[in-house]
Amino acid sequence: MNFTHQRLICVDCMNGYLFPAEEQQAHADAGQSGPISRCPDCTTSRAAIQAARAAAPVVASKRRY
Ligand SMILES: [Zn+2]
Repeated sequence: MNFTHQRLICVDCMNGYLFPAEEQQAHADAGQSGPISRCPDCTTSRAAIQAARAAAPVVASKRRY
């Protein structure tokens, strides 16, 4: 399968970014289909947020009113 560089718009920050052919190949090899929807910056910050949530499940599940 041949991939070509794609210009995409990030759904979070609405900035255009490049999705290089090599990354599309890696993405497909990882079992993902379709284009990614976020730029590398937003992907990284979302991963950091999710890691922080996973590290603090008690805080995330407790609500004080
Ligand atoms: Zn973004």
